[in-house]
Amino acid sequence: MEIAGQLSVYDLPRICPLVCRETNPKYKPSGSRTVKVRGVEFGGDSPVVIAGPCNVETHEQTLAVARAVKRAGAQMLRGGAYKPRTSPHDFQGTGLEGLCILRIASEETGLPVVTEVMDPRLVEEVAEVADMIQIGSRNMQNYPLLIEVGQAKKPVLLKRGMAASLCEWLGAAEYIAKQGNLDIVLCERGIKAFPSGEYSRYVLDLNVIPAVQENTFLPVIVDPSHATGVASMVEPASRAALEFGSHGLIIEVADFSMGRPKCDAAQAIDEKTLARIIQFADSRRRQYASSVQAA
Ligand code: PEP
Ligand code: MN
Repeated sequence: MEIAGQLSVYDLPRICPLVCRETNPKYKPSGSRTVKVRGVEFGGDSPVVIAGPCNVETHEQTLAVARAVKRAGAQMLRGGAYKPRTSPHDFQGTGLEGLCILRIASEETGLPVVTEVMDPRLVEEVAEVADMIQIGSRNMQNYPLLIEVGQAKKPVLLKRGMAASLCEWLGAAEYIAKQGNLDIVLCERGIKAFPSGEYSRYVLDLNVIPAVQENTFLPVIVDPSHATGVASMVEPASRAALEFGSHGLIIEVADFSMGRPKCDAAQAIDEKTLARIIQFADSRRRQYASSVQAA
């Protein structure tokens, strides 16, 4: 029986010739494109750690977390100004004010910023502050948004849709690439699969990391915070992701002395835990350097 719309990785050269490894032999068999975000390099020899609040709530809260992630050694700051919320009655983010706060936090710490855009009409506004534009899981297949973001001339962090196959995810990347922008970093953030929700928020699909690397030259990082939804799982999930070859991590951090975060408090880790994760990422960096020297 023939079924419409069924795809496999063998279809990738046709679906996404711009981002598919097979159709771009100039990248070495396991090599990645290096995506540079204001001096920070994704896809190189060292994993990149991005950290920050789920949500930009106030100037004080954001600056406190930004300083903490800088002290812990993170290379980039994250924070949502426009938030995708399940209920329209819930807090929707601080919007333009949040973007201004992010700019201040970035200037003070020197950390480049990644933040999400959900509305094609706001891409220009977000691109003015963001060093990297995030497409969230819920919008991975919002094709008009992908096209608009592809034209913004900024690196893009493309999160995997929570129920997206590898082909759908790389197809989404192709929309951005088709606009002339190949500065795309993929982000695995957990998928809806049995038994997500029973003891963790989603199921962290670590197996997809080598599969991504086999099928595209684009770097891939992991979000252990949304994938698990449980603060105590974030550190082991981060280590596991790096063991699987992830090019980096994006992690939610909170400073509970500033009050409980409005959003995703149960998955937020503290500065000390982040510092340990970064130490682990650094040790992998050194391991890699010494194995190259020994070879
Ligand atoms: C986020 O990173 O702020 C976020 C909402 O994540 P996701 O789109 O993966 O749910
Ligand atoms: Mn969050």
